[in-house]
Amino acid sequence: MPLLVALAGGVGAARFLQGLVAIFPPENLTVIGNTGDDMEIYGLYVSPDLDIVTYTLAGLVDEAKGWGIKGDTFGFLDMLSRYGYETWFRIGDRDLATHLHRTMLLRKGLRLSEATADICRRLGVEVRLLPMTDDPVRTMIRTEAGTMHFQEYLVKRGARDAVLAVEFLGAKEAKPSPGILEAIQEAEGVIICPSNPIVSIGPILSIDGIRQALRRTRATVVGISPIIMGAPVKGPADKLMRGLGIEISAFGVASLYADILDTFIIDFRDSMLAKRIESELGVNVMATDTLMTSFEVKKRLAEAVLHSIRG
Ligand code: GDP
Ligand code: CA
Repeated sequence: MPLLVALAGGVGAARFLQGLVAIFPPENLTVIGNTGDDMEIYGLYVSPDLDIVTYTLAGLVDEAKGWGIKGDTFGFLDMLSRYGYETWFRIGDRDLATHLHRTMLLRKGLRLSEATADICRRLGVEVRLLPMTDDPVRTMIRTEAGTMHFQEYLVKRGARDAVLAVEFLGAKEAKPSPGILEAIQEAEGVIICPSNPIVSIGPILSIDGIRQALRRTRATVVGISPIIMGAPVKGPADKLMRGLGIEISAFGVASLYADILDTFIIDFRDSMLAKRIESELGVNVMATDTLMTSFEVKKRLAEAVLHSIRG
């Protein structure tokens, strides 16, 4: 069986990976997760995108929301709010145990990649999930209302501020976590999941050596568009792309990855963009159903990706 690497943000990536592990051996898959959204809150180290992927692959995720644990309660936050704390970042009671466990492991001196491996093992997740880096990187959004952490922009302020710039604090000094560059080099295929190109895939590609490794690898690199018919399926990708002057379309996303992509998978509803992506960006295009509304669609999308990797 070949080795695969996937670059992943949160919900869009997790949905796709659910389909992939149904048809591909998870132990042959390395997932590189975004940690630009990580933050410390109430003294806890929270890693939203790693948790979404972990909970989804462990079968624990709240499918309706796409994040958090299904059936979770919020007694902890309710009580904190009585003590006068802000509770805009929603941490469920079960979810809290994950953040506490991770924080205790980090305090003991483990690296984030080691803590992540421990959480995955205990929840029965068989893919190798690697944070993009063990070093601190924070996605900061510069807006008309000031510069803020991505979570504050998205969750606290509901993505209402016009975006002026996006910055990955600490990315220049950060090193890829152990095993990432080797995995990219040895892979037969690399998948760029349908994730936010600016704040999920962007931070991963900003880590020293990762983009270069993707340009150099003999692996076939296949991306999936998170934008369908000029809009994201969920989340603020359109607002961030607009702020950075990037066309809000599958073409705009492909243009961000053109130097590393062999094939870009777009939704069949966007098939009129295929010629333009191929001729202007020099990337092969495949159009199929990418709106992952059912397990069947997720699996079929994963099959299409495997097919384009194996040729
Ligand atoms: P986040 O951290 O949870 O926002 O996670 P991601 O970056 O992985 O996901 C956000 C992106 O996933 C958005 O740009 C969505 O458009 C995309 N997305 C979510 N569901 C789907 C889907 O069913 N199909 C496609 N093509 N994209 C999706
Ligand atoms: Ca995220």
